[in-house]
Amino acid sequence: MTHIFHPAPIETVDTSTQASWQQQLADVVTTGRELISKLNLDPHYLPAANQGALDFPIRVPKAYLNRITPADIHDPLLRQVLPLKEENEPTPTGFVLDPLGEASSNKTPGIVHKYHGRVLLITNGSCAIHCRYCFRRHFPYDENNLSLKQWLSALDYIKARPEINEVILSGGDPLTNNDKRLFALISAIEAIPHVTRLRIHSRLPIVIPARVTNELVQRLHDSSLNVVMVVHCNHANEIDEEVAAALQTMHHAGIHLLNQSVLLKGINDNLNSLVNLSERLFTCRVLPYYLHLLDPVMGAHHFDVKEADGQNLMLALQNKLPGFLVPKLVREVDGRPSKTPISTPLSPI
Ligand code: SF4
Repeated sequence: MTHIFHPAPIETVDTSTQASWQQQLADVVTTGRELISKLNLDPHYLPAANQGALDFPIRVPKAYLNRITPADIHDPLLRQVLPLKEENEPTPTGFVLDPLGEASSNKTPGIVHKYHGRVLLITNGSCAIHCRYCFRRHFPYDENNLSLKQWLSALDYIKARPEINEVILSGGDPLTNNDKRLFALISAIEAIPHVTRLRIHSRLPIVIPARVTNELVQRLHDSSLNVVMVVHCNHANEIDEEVAAALQTMHHAGIHLLNQSVLLKGINDNLNSLVNLSERLFTCRVLPYYLHLLDPVMGAHHFDVKEADGQNLMLALQNKLPGFLVPKLVREVDGRPSKTPISTPLSPI
Protein backbone atom coordinates (compact mmCIF):
# COMPACT_ATOMS: atom_id res chain seq x y z
CA MET A 1 0.00 0.00 0.00
CA THR A 2 1.33 3.45 -0.87
CA HIS A 3 0.78 6.05 1.78
CA ILE A 4 -0.24 9.55 0.83
CA PHE A 5 0.80 12.02 3.49
CA HIS A 6 -2.17 13.40 5.37
CA PRO A 7 -1.34 15.50 8.40
CA ALA A 8 -4.94 15.51 9.66
CA PRO A 9 -7.23 12.51 10.15
CA ILE A 10 -9.80 11.93 7.41
CA GLU A 11 -12.98 13.84 8.07
CA THR A 12 -15.99 11.61 8.33
CA VAL A 13 -19.52 12.12 7.10
CA ASP A 14 -22.33 12.25 9.68
CA THR A 15 -24.91 9.79 8.31
CA SER A 16 -26.88 9.31 11.52
CA THR A 17 -30.08 10.97 10.32
CA GLN A 18 -30.04 10.04 6.63
CA ALA A 19 -31.70 7.24 4.69
CA SER A 20 -28.87 5.02 3.49
CA TRP A 21 -27.69 5.56 -0.07
CA GLN A 22 -29.10 2.15 -1.00
CA GLN A 23 -32.54 3.19 0.28
CA GLN A 24 -32.29 6.44 -1.64
CA LEU A 25 -31.25 4.56 -4.78
CA ALA A 26 -34.34 2.36 -4.50
CA ASP A 27 -36.76 5.14 -3.57
CA VAL A 28 -36.69 7.23 -6.74
CA VAL A 29 -39.35 8.93 -8.85
CA THR A 30 -39.93 6.86 -11.98
CA THR A 31 -43.12 8.21 -13.53
CA GLY A 32 -44.06 11.47 -15.18
CA ARG A 33 -47.23 11.56 -13.09
CA GLU A 34 -45.32 11.51 -9.79
CA LEU A 35 -42.70 13.99 -10.98
CA ILE A 36 -45.32 16.45 -12.19
CA SER A 37 -47.49 16.07 -9.11
CA LYS A 38 -44.64 16.35 -6.58
CA LEU A 39 -43.39 19.52 -8.29
CA ASN A 40 -46.82 21.02 -8.75
CA LEU A 41 -46.37 21.35 -12.51
CA ASP A 42 -49.13 21.82 -15.08
CA PRO A 43 -50.51 18.35 -15.99
CA HIS A 44 -50.38 19.23 -19.68
CA TYR A 45 -46.69 18.20 -19.56
CA LEU A 46 -47.73 14.63 -18.74
CA PRO A 47 -48.38 13.08 -22.21
CA ALA A 48 -44.95 14.14 -23.52
CA ALA A 49 -43.31 12.91 -20.31
CA ASN A 50 -45.02 9.54 -20.65
CA GLN A 51 -44.04 9.22 -24.29
CA GLY A 52 -40.41 10.21 -23.68
CA ALA A 53 -40.20 7.74 -20.81
CA LEU A 54 -41.01 4.87 -23.20
CA ASP A 55 -37.72 5.55 -24.98
CA PHE A 56 -35.63 6.28 -21.87
CA PRO A 57 -37.32 5.79 -18.47
CA ILE A 58 -37.62 8.60 -15.93
CA ARG A 59 -35.46 8.25 -12.83
CA VAL A 60 -35.02 11.02 -10.25
CA PRO A 61 -33.63 10.55 -6.72
CA LYS A 62 -35.52 12.41 -3.98
CA ALA A 63 -32.34 14.19 -2.83
CA TYR A 64 -32.16 15.73 -6.31
CA LEU A 65 -35.89 16.41 -6.54
CA ASN A 66 -35.69 18.48 -3.35
CA ARG A 67 -33.37 20.96 -5.08
CA ILE A 68 -35.89 21.71 -7.86
CA THR A 69 -38.07 24.81 -7.51
CA PRO A 70 -41.74 23.70 -7.56
CA ALA A 71 -43.99 24.90 -10.38
CA ASP A 72 -41.07 26.20 -12.45
CA ILE A 73 -40.83 24.45 -15.82
CA HIS A 74 -37.62 26.39 -16.52
CA ASP A 75 -35.80 25.06 -13.46
CA PRO A 76 -32.34 23.97 -14.72
CA LEU A 77 -32.42 20.74 -12.71
CA LEU A 78 -35.95 19.83 -13.76
CA ARG A 79 -35.05 20.16 -17.45
CA GLN A 80 -32.36 17.54 -17.01
CA VAL A 81 -34.86 14.91 -15.85
CA LEU A 82 -38.32 15.66 -17.30
CA PRO A 83 -38.99 14.47 -20.87
CA LEU A 84 -40.45 17.37 -22.84
CA LYS A 85 -42.35 17.25 -26.14
CA GLU A 86 -39.17 18.12 -28.08
CA GLU A 87 -37.77 14.70 -27.15
CA ASN A 88 -40.50 13.05 -29.18
CA GLU A 89 -40.11 15.22 -32.28
CA PRO A 90 -38.64 13.77 -35.50
CA THR A 91 -34.88 13.43 -35.14
CA PRO A 92 -32.85 16.05 -37.03
CA THR A 93 -30.12 14.85 -39.38
CA GLY A 94 -26.93 13.95 -37.57
CA PHE A 95 -28.55 12.79 -34.32
CA VAL A 96 -28.04 9.03 -34.00
CA LEU A 97 -28.38 6.11 -31.57
CA ASP A 98 -24.65 5.72 -30.83
CA PRO A 99 -22.98 9.09 -31.54
CA LEU A 100 -19.55 8.04 -30.25
CA GLY A 101 -19.39 4.65 -31.96
CA GLU A 102 -19.02 2.91 -28.60
CA ALA A 103 -20.64 -0.26 -29.85
CA SER A 104 -17.69 -0.76 -32.25
CA SER A 105 -15.08 0.08 -29.56
CA ASN A 106 -16.75 -2.39 -27.19
CA LYS A 107 -14.93 -5.54 -28.42
CA THR A 108 -14.68 -7.28 -25.05
CA PRO A 109 -17.83 -7.03 -22.89
CA GLY A 110 -17.29 -4.36 -20.25
CA ILE A 111 -14.32 -2.73 -22.02
CA VAL A 112 -14.40 0.36 -24.23
CA HIS A 113 -10.88 0.95 -25.54
CA LYS A 114 -10.66 4.10 -27.63
CA TYR A 115 -7.77 6.08 -26.15
CA HIS A 116 -4.06 5.36 -25.84
CA GLY A 117 -2.99 4.26 -22.35
CA ARG A 118 -6.43 4.11 -20.80
CA VAL A 119 -9.52 1.96 -20.95
CA LEU A 120 -13.06 2.46 -19.86
CA LEU A 121 -14.48 -0.33 -17.73
CA ILE A 122 -18.26 -0.41 -17.84
CA THR A 123 -18.95 -1.74 -14.39
CA ASN A 124 -22.74 -1.92 -14.70
CA GLY A 125 -25.62 -0.41 -16.59
CA SER A 126 -27.54 1.38 -13.92
CA CYS A 127 -27.60 5.04 -12.97
CA ALA A 128 -29.15 6.79 -10.00
CA ILE A 129 -30.62 9.44 -12.27
CA HIS A 130 -31.60 9.45 -15.93
CA CYS A 131 -30.31 12.58 -17.64
CA ARG A 132 -32.35 13.29 -20.72
CA TYR A 133 -29.27 14.41 -22.72
CA CYS A 134 -27.27 11.23 -21.99
CA PHE A 135 -25.25 9.98 -24.97
CA ARG A 136 -25.55 6.42 -23.63
CA ARG A 137 -29.33 6.43 -23.46
CA HIS A 138 -29.41 3.73 -26.14
CA PHE A 139 -26.24 1.81 -25.12
CA PRO A 140 -26.68 -2.00 -24.91
CA TYR A 141 -26.13 -2.17 -21.15
CA ASP A 142 -27.74 -5.60 -20.86
CA GLU A 143 -24.78 -7.03 -22.78
CA ASN A 144 -22.39 -5.24 -20.43
CA ASN A 145 -23.79 -6.32 -17.06
CA LEU A 146 -20.93 -8.66 -16.44
CA SER A 147 -20.86 -12.09 -14.85
CA LEU A 148 -17.82 -12.97 -12.73
CA LYS A 149 -16.32 -14.83 -15.72
CA GLN A 150 -16.71 -11.73 -17.90
CA TRP A 151 -15.13 -9.57 -15.17
CA LEU A 152 -12.09 -11.79 -15.24
CA SER A 153 -11.87 -11.61 -19.00
CA ALA A 154 -12.19 -7.78 -18.93
CA LEU A 155 -9.35 -7.66 -16.38
CA ASP A 156 -7.30 -10.07 -18.53
CA TYR A 157 -7.69 -7.61 -21.42
CA ILE A 158 -6.06 -4.91 -19.26
CA LYS A 159 -3.38 -7.25 -17.89
CA ALA A 160 -2.33 -8.20 -21.42
CA ARG A 161 -1.70 -4.58 -22.43
CA PRO A 162 1.18 -3.04 -20.50
CA GLU A 163 0.60 0.31 -22.22
CA ILE A 164 -2.60 0.78 -20.17
CA ASN A 165 -1.77 2.80 -17.06
CA GLU A 166 -5.19 4.19 -16.29
CA VAL A 167 -8.50 2.45 -15.75
CA ILE A 168 -11.62 4.55 -15.91
CA LEU A 169 -14.64 3.17 -14.09
CA SER A 170 -17.76 4.12 -15.91
CA GLY A 171 -21.28 2.88 -16.44
CA GLY A 172 -24.03 3.56 -16.04
CA ASP A 173 -22.65 4.88 -12.80
CA PRO A 174 -19.88 2.84 -11.15
CA LEU A 175 -20.82 4.02 -7.66
CA THR A 176 -24.19 2.27 -7.92
CA ASN A 177 -22.19 -0.94 -7.35
CA ASN A 178 -22.25 -2.05 -3.73
CA ASP A 179 -19.02 -1.75 -1.75
CA LYS A 180 -18.26 -5.47 -1.86
CA ARG A 181 -18.29 -5.56 -5.66
CA LEU A 182 -16.63 -2.17 -6.07
CA PHE A 183 -13.84 -2.80 -3.58
CA ALA A 184 -13.14 -6.26 -5.07
CA LEU A 185 -12.80 -4.63 -8.48
CA ILE A 186 -10.47 -1.92 -7.15
CA SER A 187 -8.31 -4.59 -5.48
CA ALA A 188 -8.11 -6.54 -8.74
CA ILE A 189 -7.04 -3.41 -10.62
CA GLU A 190 -4.47 -2.56 -7.94
CA ALA A 191 -2.93 -5.98 -8.53
CA ILE A 192 -2.11 -5.13 -12.17
CA PRO A 193 1.40 -3.68 -11.96
CA HIS A 194 1.24 -1.32 -14.97
CA VAL A 195 -1.99 0.38 -13.85
CA THR A 196 -1.16 3.40 -11.69
CA ARG A 197 -4.25 5.55 -11.95
CA LEU A 198 -7.91 4.93 -11.23
CA ARG A 199 -10.44 7.38 -12.52
CA ILE A 200 -14.06 7.14 -11.39
CA HIS A 201 -16.71 8.96 -13.38
CA SER A 202 -19.80 9.29 -11.26
CA ARG A 203 -22.80 11.52 -10.86
CA LEU A 204 -23.71 9.93 -7.50
CA PRO A 205 -21.78 12.40 -5.30
CA ILE A 206 -24.00 15.07 -6.89
CA VAL A 207 -27.36 13.31 -7.04
CA ILE A 208 -27.19 11.08 -3.93
CA PRO A 209 -24.33 12.48 -1.85
CA ALA A 210 -25.03 9.90 0.89
CA ARG A 211 -23.13 7.48 -1.42
CA VAL A 212 -19.93 9.17 -0.22
CA THR A 213 -19.79 6.99 2.88
CA ASN A 214 -16.92 6.86 5.31
CA GLU A 215 -16.14 3.33 4.06
CA LEU A 216 -15.91 4.49 0.44
CA VAL A 217 -13.73 7.46 1.28
CA GLN A 218 -11.43 5.30 3.42
CA ARG A 219 -11.08 2.67 0.66
CA LEU A 220 -10.17 5.27 -1.95
CA HIS A 221 -7.80 6.98 0.47
CA ASP A 222 -6.05 3.65 1.15
CA SER A 223 -5.70 2.70 -2.51
CA SER A 224 -2.23 2.22 -3.96
CA LEU A 225 -3.57 3.87 -7.12
CA ASN A 226 -3.73 7.58 -7.72
CA VAL A 227 -7.47 8.15 -7.49
CA VAL A 228 -9.32 10.79 -9.48
CA MET A 229 -13.06 11.32 -9.03
CA VAL A 230 -14.77 13.10 -11.91
CA VAL A 231 -18.18 14.28 -10.79
CA HIS A 232 -20.70 15.33 -13.40
CA CYS A 233 -22.36 18.57 -12.41
CA ASN A 234 -24.05 20.93 -14.85
CA HIS A 235 -25.42 23.69 -12.66
CA ALA A 236 -24.52 25.35 -9.36
CA ASN A 237 -28.03 24.60 -8.00
CA GLU A 238 -27.08 20.92 -8.03
CA ILE A 239 -24.63 21.55 -5.17
CA ASP A 240 -26.50 21.92 -1.90
CA GLU A 241 -24.87 21.74 1.54
CA GLU A 242 -24.92 17.95 1.64
CA VAL A 243 -23.24 17.67 -1.76
CA ALA A 244 -20.67 20.28 -0.70
CA ALA A 245 -19.86 18.30 2.46
CA ALA A 246 -19.44 15.06 0.46
CA LEU A 247 -17.07 16.74 -2.01
CA GLN A 248 -15.00 18.35 0.73
CA THR A 249 -14.72 15.03 2.57
CA MET A 250 -13.27 13.38 -0.53
CA HIS A 251 -10.88 16.28 -1.02
CA HIS A 252 -9.62 16.01 2.56
CA ALA A 253 -8.98 12.30 1.95
CA GLY A 254 -6.56 13.12 -0.88
CA ILE A 255 -8.89 12.21 -3.76
CA HIS A 256 -8.39 14.47 -6.78
CA LEU A 257 -11.70 16.05 -7.73
CA LEU A 258 -12.57 17.23 -11.23
CA ASN A 259 -15.84 18.16 -12.86
CA GLN A 260 -17.13 17.73 -16.34
CA SER A 261 -20.31 19.30 -17.60
CA VAL A 262 -22.31 19.29 -20.76
CA LEU A 263 -23.25 22.62 -22.32
CA LEU A 264 -27.03 22.37 -22.40
CA LYS A 265 -29.49 24.74 -24.01
CA GLY A 266 -31.95 26.15 -21.48
CA ILE A 267 -29.90 24.81 -18.56
CA ASN A 268 -26.43 26.33 -18.41
CA ASP A 269 -25.86 28.07 -21.78
CA ASN A 270 -25.39 31.54 -20.30
CA LEU A 271 -22.47 33.32 -18.69
CA ASN A 272 -23.93 33.62 -15.20
CA SER A 273 -24.70 29.92 -14.91
CA LEU A 274 -21.21 28.91 -16.02
CA VAL A 275 -19.48 31.44 -13.73
CA ASN A 276 -21.57 30.35 -10.76
CA LEU A 277 -20.89 26.69 -11.50
CA SER A 278 -17.11 27.14 -11.60
CA GLU A 279 -17.12 29.28 -8.44
CA ARG A 280 -19.34 26.86 -6.53
CA LEU A 281 -17.27 23.86 -7.60
CA PHE A 282 -14.05 25.49 -6.49
CA THR A 283 -15.54 26.36 -3.11
CA CYS A 284 -16.08 22.61 -2.76
CA ARG A 285 -12.47 21.89 -3.87
CA VAL A 286 -13.44 20.64 -7.35
CA LEU A 287 -11.66 21.90 -10.47
CA PRO A 288 -13.71 22.49 -13.63
CA TYR A 289 -12.22 20.20 -16.26
CA TYR A 290 -14.30 19.75 -19.41
CA LEU A 291 -17.33 21.51 -20.82
CA HIS A 292 -18.65 19.19 -23.52
CA LEU A 293 -20.64 20.17 -26.52
CA LEU A 294 -23.62 17.85 -26.70
CA ASP A 295 -23.07 14.44 -28.25
CA PRO A 296 -25.67 14.19 -31.01
CA VAL A 297 -27.79 11.40 -29.59
CA MET A 298 -31.35 10.76 -30.76
CA GLY A 299 -33.89 12.38 -28.43
CA ALA A 300 -31.60 15.14 -27.15
CA HIS A 301 -31.44 17.62 -30.05
CA HIS A 302 -33.31 20.31 -28.09
CA PHE A 303 -30.30 20.60 -25.72
CA ASP A 304 -27.88 21.35 -28.54
CA VAL A 305 -25.90 24.61 -28.35
CA LYS A 306 -24.20 25.73 -31.57
CA GLU A 307 -20.42 25.53 -31.54
CA ALA A 308 -20.04 29.29 -32.21
CA ASP A 309 -22.30 30.08 -29.24
CA GLY A 310 -20.17 27.81 -27.07
CA GLN A 311 -17.02 29.59 -28.27
CA ASN A 312 -18.49 33.01 -27.47
CA LEU A 313 -19.41 31.80 -24.00
CA MET A 314 -15.85 30.60 -23.44
CA LEU A 315 -14.49 33.99 -24.45
CA ALA A 316 -16.81 35.70 -21.99
CA LEU A 317 -15.91 33.17 -19.30
CA GLN A 318 -12.19 33.79 -19.79
CA ASN A 319 -12.81 37.49 -19.24
CA LYS A 320 -14.59 36.78 -15.95
CA LEU A 321 -12.63 33.99 -14.27
CA PRO A 322 -9.02 33.03 -13.57
CA GLY A 323 -7.74 30.44 -16.06
CA PHE A 324 -7.89 27.53 -13.62
CA LEU A 325 -11.65 27.99 -13.26
CA VAL A 326 -12.31 27.95 -17.01
CA PRO A 327 -13.13 24.43 -18.24
CA LYS A 328 -11.90 23.27 -21.66
CA LEU A 329 -14.58 23.34 -24.31
CA VAL A 330 -14.44 20.01 -26.14
CA ARG A 331 -16.35 17.76 -28.44
CA GLU A 332 -16.06 14.01 -28.79
CA VAL A 333 -15.74 12.92 -32.38
CA ASP A 334 -16.27 9.28 -33.27
CA GLY A 335 -12.95 7.72 -34.30
CA ARG A 336 -10.65 10.45 -32.94
CA PRO A 337 -8.03 9.22 -30.41
CA SER A 338 -8.81 12.00 -27.89
CA LYS A 339 -11.38 14.67 -27.21
CA THR A 340 -11.33 17.48 -29.75
CA PRO A 341 -10.65 20.89 -28.18
CA ILE A 342 -12.69 23.79 -29.53
CA SER A 343 -10.60 26.93 -29.74
CA THR A 344 -11.64 30.16 -28.07
CA PRO A 345 -11.90 33.08 -30.51
CA LEU A 346 -10.06 36.36 -29.90
CA SER A 347 -13.30 38.28 -30.32
CA PRO A 348 -16.97 37.21 -30.45
CA ILE A 349 -17.90 35.20 -33.55
S1 SF4 B 1 -25.63 9.64 -14.82
FE1 SF4 B 1 -24.29 9.80 -16.62
S2 SF4 B 1 -24.50 7.80 -17.68
FE2 SF4 B 1 -26.23 8.01 -16.22
S3 SF4 B 1 -27.91 8.90 -17.42
FE3 SF4 B 1 -26.82 10.62 -16.44
S4 SF4 B 1 -25.32 11.24 -17.98
FE4 SF4 B 1 -26.01 9.21 -18.56
